[in-house]
Amino acid sequence: MQTKSKLLFFVALMLLGLGIATTINVSLNFRDYSIKNAVQKATLAAVIVKDGLTAHMVNGIMEKRGYFLNQISTNNEKIKKLWIVRSSKVIKQYGKGFDSEAIRDAIDKKVLTTGKTVQKVTESAENSMLRITIPYNATIDENGPNCLACHHVNSGDTLGAISMEFDITDMRNAGIFTILKILALNLIFIIIVLFLINYYVTPYMKLFSDMQKGIKKAYRGDFSHKFTTSVSGDAKSIIDQLNTLFRKMQETFGGIKYNLATFIPQGCVSSTDPLQEAKIIIEELSDIYKFKKTIENDPTKEIVYSRIADVLKNKYALTHFAFYEVDTIKLTRKLIYISRGESICNDGVNLDASLCRAYRTNTSVISSEFTNLCQECTCNDLEYICIPFTINDANSFIISITSKNKSELNKINSYIQNIENYLEAAKPVVESKILMSKLRNTSLKDVMTGFYNRRFLDEFIDTVSSQAKREKTIYSILMLDVDYFKKINDTYGHDIGDKVIVKIGEVVRASIRESDLAIRYGGEEFVIILHNANDEGTLKIAKKIHSEFANLVFDVGNGQTVQKTMSIGIAKFPKDGDTIWKCIKHADTALYVAKTTGRNKIIEYKKEMSENDNLR
Ligand code: GH3
Ligand code: MG
Ligand code: MG
Repeated sequence: MQTKSKLLFFVALMLLGLGIATTINVSLNFRDYSIKNAVQKATLAAVIVKDGLTAHMVNGIMEKRGYFLNQISTNNEKIKKLWIVRSSKVIKQYGKGFDSEAIRDAIDKKVLTTGKTVQKVTESAENSMLRITIPYNATIDENGPNCLACHHVNSGDTLGAISMEFDITDMRNAGIFTILKILALNLIFIIIVLFLINYYVTPYMKLFSDMQKGIKKAYRGDFSHKFTTSVSGDAKSIIDQLNTLFRKMQETFGGIKYNLATFIPQGCVSSTDPLQEAKIIIEELSDIYKFKKTIENDPTKEIVYSRIADVLKNKYALTHFAFYEVDTIKLTRKLIYISRGESICNDGVNLDASLCRAYRTNTSVISSEFTNLCQECTCNDLEYICIPFTINDANSFIISITSKNKSELNKINSYIQNIENYLEAAKPVVESKILMSKLRNTSLKDVMTGFYNRRFLDEFIDTVSSQAKREKTIYSILMLDVDYFKKINDTYGHDIGDKVIVKIGEVVRASIRESDLAIRYGGEEFVIILHNANDEGTLKIAKKIHSEFANLVFDVGNGQTVQKTMSIGIAKFPKDGDTIWKCIKHADTALYVAKTTGRNKIIEYKKEMSENDNLR
């Protein structure tokens, strides 16, 4: 029900209630008044009858009382019946009297017994009758007749009674008419009040519903509503102010929404309330801004990757996910971070990134979309979402999120856009870190052999040293140098010399493990740091390099060939020195000893070498 209808309904109900209460009150009072009036008349008639009968008695014409009584009822048309009755004592003294004077009903009997007046109203559809019976009690009145002078009764005894039936139909009709008049007046009053309320309230109600409409639209972010009203005064000025406010909101809010949407791609917020939406976007922007500021100052891309993992863990409460980096040129994939457990992908995917469906299609792969969607997934009991993200021409990310719970995965699915917003923010930073690291690698690497150069050793040897000490790792350091290399340059030219250097690189690379480190230390001088190699193993590698190089036959042109030898010095960390750097020096000392004692040999460092100048 509309507010206005409700108001009118309640006002009408109240007024009607009031009218009914008034009518009932008036009708009750009216009835009371009518009966009182009739009783008064009856009492008066009874007194007249009593006085008349007394006069008849005193004058000794009691036998003519019938005419007198008839006259009274005939002269008063309201008295429908009038009769008198005698008490048993009077009957005993004077006889029964006329037939009409016999007791007619229980009321007569009661009044004669109690000596008290009884009245009763009888209503029917046609008329209303008041029956009243008034007793005559024996009195001794100094100024009037003394009842006891004639009657053999005691004072106060009931001598008889007069009964009358009054027609009070007129009074009842008058009462009903009055009630109808009151009701009609009430009805007119109610109609007038309702009309006035309707007249004055309707414009406010219209204004109210117009405001409701406008505010509903505003809630959806549409402030274009124009409020109108026919009410003047305060209401009008409120409407004017509202219109001004809405116009301003429409102008500024539209702009804010548009601008925010350009910062964060659509879909990251799912709110129907635009203000709430703006608040969420601003919070998200602020978080992403702080994230970006932080990673910009991180030194390596690995730290940036760990920050992305932290965001996934802490902000999106992801517990099971893996983070891969794809080399899009070599088509290889590398696991950067895994939260728990093992990767859900086949091992082959890391060797051939094109097997990764997310990478290949460059769209998110969601397991719920099709049975066994990614053929490379090894876990049939897990749901997964794999999100690809391109960093540049050479690098991409894959974030693989897993869950046992389908509904949890659907929830995660709704975060994808938000996660991509973070990746988008990280993209330029990661790109610049990759570039920096490439530049750095170039300056730290030797182009001819692909090994690190001496600069790298200068920069990183301290880190390797302290890490070795902390982890109690042992290293063997080999320093090798070609014997009489200068001769090659001098005899066959620099190019042949270069070929020899490249070949040394190949021999060394083929002889050491992934965890070992080879450095081009100088012209044809190399340092090899063997990780966790024992004495026997170290010597074996040194011999392998030594003999393989010695067996190489270099074509120097004109059908000529040349073979070369090398000398190797060996020192061990921490046995021969407490820093790697010292051990390199000692390996150099051992090499020097090899050179000075005939070349083409492998010499292990001994303490005496540093003490004995003859050996240097
Ligand atoms: P030793 O047995 O005492 O080592 O005699 P050696 O002639 O090998 O002497 P050394 O190791 O000192 O000679 C190094 C030479 O290597 C000097 C330099 O001309 C040459 N060289 C350095 N860098 C390069 C390079 O990149 N290419 C070529 N072709 N030669 C280089
Ligand atoms: Mg040499
Ligand atoms: Mg040399």
